[in-house]
Amino acid sequence: MARLAQTADLTDIQQEILSTVRSFVDKEIIPHAQALEHADEYPTEIVDGLKELGIFGLMIPEEYGGLGESLLTYALVVEEIARGWMSVSGVINTHFIVAYMLRQHGTPEQKEHFLPRMATGEVRGAFSMSEPGLGSDVAGIRTKAVPDGDSYVIDGQKMWLTNGGSSTLVATLVRTDLGADKAYQNLTTFLVEKPAGFGTVAPGLTIPGKIDKMGYKGVDTTELVFDGYRIGADMILGGTPGRGFAQMMDGVEVGRVNVAARACGISIRAFELAVEYAQQRETFGKPIVQHQAIAFQLAEMATKVEAAHLMMVNAARLKDAGQRNDVEAGMAKLIASEYCAEVTTQSFRIHGGYGYSKEYEIERLMREAPFLLIGEGTSEIQKTIISRGLLKEYGLER
Ligand SMILES: Cc1cc2nc3c(=O)[nH]c(=O)nc-3n(C[C@H](O)[C@H](O)[C@H](O)COP(=O)(O)OP(=O)(O)OC[C@H]3O[C@@H](n4cnc5c(N)ncnc54)[C@H](O)[C@@H]3O)c2cc1C
Repeated sequence: MARLAQTADLTDIQQEILSTVRSFVDKEIIPHAQALEHADEYPTEIVDGLKELGIFGLMIPEEYGGLGESLLTYALVVEEIARGWMSVSGVINTHFIVAYMLRQHGTPEQKEHFLPRMATGEVRGAFSMSEPGLGSDVAGIRTKAVPDGDSYVIDGQKMWLTNGGSSTLVATLVRTDLGADKAYQNLTTFLVEKPAGFGTVAPGLTIPGKIDKMGYKGVDTTELVFDGYRIGADMILGGTPGRGFAQMMDGVEVGRVNVAARACGISIRAFELAVEYAQQRETFGKPIVQHQAIAFQLAEMATKVEAAHLMMVNAARLKDAGQRNDVEAGMAKLIASEYCAEVTTQSFRIHGGYGYSKEYEIERLMREAPFLLIGEGTSEIQKTIISRGLLKEYGLER
């Protein structure tokens, strides 16, 4: 058999990009990930290396200075990076979602203004839907923008911004009361430009500080407080208010493929660590891999890695073909994140007591995997999306 998680029918360019990223991950990420993560230190040198490789512009069209690659290429790159350290994939993911939303929904002026600088990594994107009182229930957003002349004034609090401090452009979903019947039709995405950093970074705009997390360290996750923040109407994504919910859901749909890819990367690494350890550790006179109980665990883990990878690739290819992939992306995200939690736990158990030591990489993966059950929509939300999709296809006509 071949190594796990191979992808059929890649172009020469895709293979070249992946092999470059894989060698960057092996040389520049894996050797430093444990120390940086334990110190909760931002991976500045790694991020600079990714900028040089052009990763920040991977999916940005060539006319704006990007590489114009597909969602599949992006997802496979993310899988490689998360195999090295999930936090690094977090640095690029919100940037990628915002660039994608601009590409799909931005006005020509907005694309011209942001995309070339996003392609180089000079402008770095974050996206903000969640608030202290809501995450899954996006339509309930309370942060409000009120028109005032040819600008808007925003008040409210946002929560859980990945790259909240290090980004310079935050696509932010807020309420603009337009009188529409459905709550989600009253939501608008604003392109909030700000300097990187913490504290009051602009009049009426505060990034209080980093939220201390269980894992996924190094990358900053923050709140965002608006207090009479004034923004021009030209900073509404696409120029027309009331379209924010659909724009964000489009972004999250590609984000889900990315989270599935991340889960695949972590699972691959957890498997690699387990299969190596199982051949080195001896009990009762033989390597533990020769105990059938351990060999069968490895067989199960490898099968989960393979299944999740195939579903992730399928969801990415559908989107690249211009088809709706909400159900497939939901399925890929669901299975990849659930399998990732299982595979990391299996790898942890194969490591015995050493799995609990901070010297071994698996303890970090054990703290990273749970986030994937939550981010870009929890497993329950994925099941809601999948089951709704199923009834569209299989519903009985009455
Ligand atoms: C580290 C980290 C980074 C994040 N980064 C970002 C970011 O960059 N931008 C951003 O906008 N958000 C971000 N988030 C927020 C994330 O998207 C939300 O945490 C997630 O959507 C879940 O929302 P919640 O935490 O409010 O949970 P809730 O919505 O309160 O859900 C709580 C529980 O109830 C379940 N539940 C909720 N509704 C239903 C239902 N209808 N049926 C069945 N079960 C249900 C959920 O599955 C969950 O188990 C981040 C979160 C974390 C932890």
